[in-house]
Amino acid sequence: MKDKQVRVRFAPSPTGPLHIGGIRTALYNYLFARKNKGVMVLRIEDTDQNRSMPGTEEYIMKSLEWCGIRFDEGVREGGPYGPYRQSERKSLYEQYAMKLIEKGHAYYAFDTAEELEQMRKRQEAGGFKLTGYNQQSRLEMKNSLTLDKEDVQQRINNCEKYVIRIRIPENEEIKVFDEVRNWVNVDSSTMDDKVLFKSDGMPTYHLANVVDDHMMKITNVIRGEEWLPSLPLHALLYKYLGWENEMPDFAHLPLLLKPDGKGKLSKRDGDRLGFPVFPLQWKDPKTGEIYSGYRESGYFPEAFVNILVFLGWNPGTEQELFTMEELIDAFTLERVGKSGSRFDPEKAKWFNHQYLIGKSNAELATQYEKILKKKKIEISVAYVEKVVGLIKERANFVSDFWEQSKFFFIAPEDYEEKLVKKKWKENTPDILRDISAMLMDISDFSRDSIEKTVKDYIEEKELGMGQVMIALRLCLVGSGMGPDLFAIMELLGKKEVIQRVQRGIENIGG
Ligand code: GLU
Repeated sequence: MKDKQVRVRFAPSPTGPLHIGGIRTALYNYLFARKNKGVMVLRIEDTDQNRSMPGTEEYIMKSLEWCGIRFDEGVREGGPYGPYRQSERKSLYEQYAMKLIEKGHAYYAFDTAEELEQMRKRQEAGGFKLTGYNQQSRLEMKNSLTLDKEDVQQRINNCEKYVIRIRIPENEEIKVFDEVRNWVNVDSSTMDDKVLFKSDGMPTYHLANVVDDHMMKITNVIRGEEWLPSLPLHALLYKYLGWENEMPDFAHLPLLLKPDGKGKLSKRDGDRLGFPVFPLQWKDPKTGEIYSGYRESGYFPEAFVNILVFLGWNPGTEQELFTMEELIDAFTLERVGKSGSRFDPEKAKWFNHQYLIGKSNAELATQYEKILKKKKIEISVAYVEKVVGLIKERANFVSDFWEQSKFFFIAPEDYEEKLVKKKWKENTPDILRDISAMLMDISDFSRDSIEKTVKDYIEEKELGMGQVMIALRLCLVGSGMGPDLFAIMELLGKKEVIQRVQRGIENIGG
């Protein structure tokens, strides 16, 4: 197995949009494939036609594309092991179910929904420890283990509905190796006879998944922990189909937990707790409900990938920011942890901030201009770039820019009352008038000359630095916020600064 070309697959079911857990699974598969110079396959597992949700396949593709996760083979790319959508492989699976029946590892079951319900009730009433269609109960049911051969054949000939179930062996210890959890041992008597092939002519997930992984020559199955309980069943299928020696290596990724660590992160948590759980915004086609997405909330895809990769993996070093290339280099399954990983929305914002400040002012200005345009603000790019340079340290998202910088585009209309009360003294207007006059005389109006002029004046008049600076800030910004005041002044320009000081004096009064 080790010298074979590595082949991994991401195999979502289009039953709903992928949430961050699904994207993380895709990401780990992608990193593993690239690191090992392998092949990444996208397979759509749509055997459960009743649960398919329109638009989700498209949504899955778009989300992965946004994250920069690329496939070598798949429904779009094609490839030598296609088709890659299970509904298009329908005719392939039955023969394997038949093979299992021939070898005595599976059987036909003709039980109706009512009969199954009665079985469940009997088990409940009897207080059975193990419930379900299993080694005990199958002997009381209507299946090819209890009915005689002719009867079975007749029912099939009469087109009676049936399913095919696996026949779980009695008293066998099933041992399977998982790269994250090591050996998993299961007593077969605790397992039930899962349906492999449904009455609608479709395989169930278990059969289709194993058959396809085998036929697509998958070497490593990397998937969410919710599939760990299915691993013993899958191992039995590999064995019974005669593929035991070619079984892929398995790695089950730890659960993603809610921010408080209590329970699995669910698709409802995000909007309830104020952060997205979906990569892109999603509108439920049935209910019309809208779920927020990372993209629409202003996250950069690189930041999103960086947030996700740390939910279950760590590099073993202090490094926190990784490009995709660096991740490919650093990623190993050995460094994937066993315990559930808690989602931290504040840390997610921190990651975005790091990527934001790493971007050039020019790139950010282009994005900011879209917001400014909507606000009908038309101003030179050079100006917007300078504004961005001054405020980006204070923002997590481009959408924070406006709150942090609107005073660069519009003069304040009102002034923070609390601050006025505290810092605006009787002599403030006179001081500001003096300063205005001096600013008027500065010829280059650069940050440093402004600073020198203002500070020299404060010193000479033996005034409090804080009082004067805050009064000036109130006039220019309207509040106590914002970056370095002298830089603000330089960017606003002499005329605007003097006008705003003048207006401040008039509006706040003396
Ligand atoms: N179709 C399954 C899912 O949606 C795939 C599980 C697997 O990777 O085996 O999660």
